[in-house]
Amino acid sequence: MQIQQSISLKQYNTFGIDVLAKEFAMFADMQALDSLLPENGPLLILGGGSNVLFTSNFAGRVLVNNLKGIAVDSEDNESVIMKVGAGENWHQFVMHCVDKGLGGIENLSLIPGSVGASPMQNIGAYGVEIKDVFVELEAYHIYDRATVKFNMDECKFGYRESVFKRNYNGQFVITSVSYRLQKTPVLMLTYGAIMQELENMQVINPNIKHVSDAVIRIRQSKLPDPAKLGNAGSFFKNPIVPQETYEAISAGYPNVPAFHAGDKVKIPAGWLIEQCGWKGHRQGDAGCFPKQALVLVNYGTANGKEIFDLSQQILESVQKKFGVMLEREVNIY
Ligand code: FAD
Ligand code: NAP
Repeated sequence: MQIQQSISLKQYNTFGIDVLAKEFAMFADMQALDSLLPENGPLLILGGGSNVLFTSNFAGRVLVNNLKGIAVDSEDNESVIMKVGAGENWHQFVMHCVDKGLGGIENLSLIPGSVGASPMQNIGAYGVEIKDVFVELEAYHIYDRATVKFNMDECKFGYRESVFKRNYNGQFVITSVSYRLQKTPVLMLTYGAIMQELENMQVINPNIKHVSDAVIRIRQSKLPDPAKLGNAGSFFKNPIVPQETYEAISAGYPNVPAFHAGDKVKIPAGWLIEQCGWKGHRQGDAGCFPKQALVLVNYGTANGKEIFDLSQQILESVQKKFGVMLEREVNIY
């Protein structure tokens, strides 16, 4: 298996940050993965690079996951379990299911990246998270060199969280994920602008294809296309704050958007950032996207440190104005 030296990662991260990987290779089968794992030194597994920010060269080995395959694992009258190679493109897998009339992930249309990264932060959008359809995954332990299966409980999914992003960070390569899709889908339409968009499309009795189309239309209208403008989606998580914090904010800002999250309250981070005046702000080639303040963008030649510094300024100003400490969602290297 060919290991290349000093390779630019510009085309392997959607921010378009031009850093070098000391060593670089791709793997498309388990044998190749095993032979490419380094005995020691830093290792980074990359899928589509749509949730990473490189702030410096990577002084180790970068391995790009290219494990393919979509197969029906089992099936009954109500559902189908699909086992999917971690290197499959997430959106193409969603389209595959939508085309077959299998429901459950249509709200997750047009999320960039790979299937293997979907459990990493329990990807979510429009009221659906992958934990809602997750069955199990297989992961290869990089030290033990053995495949381990993880069920739902063992993944410890949370809001943009899993055991792989925290406790087991850097220890496993996710190699396949199995999801349960429904033959008679129950649609989730009440979130964000989906209903409005279906109305715009003049759809009266929506099916999963309509919902997927609506989500794609909304996303295309408000999110930057990484192929045209470097970004990694939402840079920060939406904070979930104690009721008292919410009440303190709403005393000064009666229109603050808020959503119940157990006994706490979720406040859209984009709103907090916007109130601090960052929306549309640009410093050099690093910027805060004019249509959605939660998305930081690279207008061309920004480096990772410049994007990170902007995120730090945003974080500090939100903390100062609202007493809320935002947490970065994007993985920083
Ligand atoms: P990468 O960026 O390649 O990797 C992310 C992290 O996962 C890294 O730490 C990496 O080491 C690790 N990793 C990747 N693959 C594996 C593997 N096989 N085994 C072990 N570790 C691995 N996210 C959402 O949740 N919801 C959204 O709606 C959403 N919208 C987005 C919109 C845009 C325009 C963009 C650019 C991003 C968006 N994202 C969203 C973020 C991103 O697309 C997801 O987090 C996606 O799952 C990342 O996949 P990836 O393959 O690009 O991961
Ligand atoms: P939006 O519809 O403008 O809503 C703003 C925020 O309010 C969302 O982030 C969402 O939180 C929350 N929200 C909206 N309706 C809700 C409801 N009925 N119940 C609970 N919370 C609600 O958001 P948007 O920016 O256009 O994004 C739409 C969806 O795509 C969101 O789910 C968002 O998370 C997802 N998205 C994620 C990324 C990423 O990189 N992670 C990038 C773009 C979009 P939640 O985020 O918790 O859903």
